[in-house]
Amino acid sequence: MKDEPTVVHESACPEECWSEGDRVGVRWRTLLSGDRTPTSALTLGVAEIPPGDAPVRLHHHEPVEAYYILAGEGSVHVAGREHTVRPGSAVFIPGNAEHVVRNTGGVALRLLYVFPVDAFDQVEYRFPEPLAR
Ligand code: MN
Repeated sequence: MKDEPTVVHESACPEECWSEGDRVGVRWRTLLSGDRTPTSALTLGVAEIPPGDAPVRLHHHEPVEAYYILAGEGSVHVAGREHTVRPGSAVFIPGNAEHVVRNTGGVALRLLYVFPVDAFDQVEYRFPEPLAR
């Protein structure tokens, strides 16, 4: 698809989640992704972890990823280290580094995430741990 100036709004993008189990711990909306917008080179979305929810599953993927915290309080574990985050925090996650996000506050933790790939389906998630039941 040819690149075009593109404006989308989060509210117009469908909510997605991992389909296994009930407590997957995160829901997200993909805003820019070459499979659905006339864009390339970047994939951008917004994720939300409600308070008290299970954390995002520990995972890794080949592309680097960056988070920007929009709301809430949380803890981001990257490659064996824990980092406290709050609105305004940016996190760089190296390629193939294991990471997980927890909501440590009383309100929804919302974060923007971005990958340097044309489309979200180019991010192959790998889960080193089985899903807790
Ligand atoms: Mn990730």
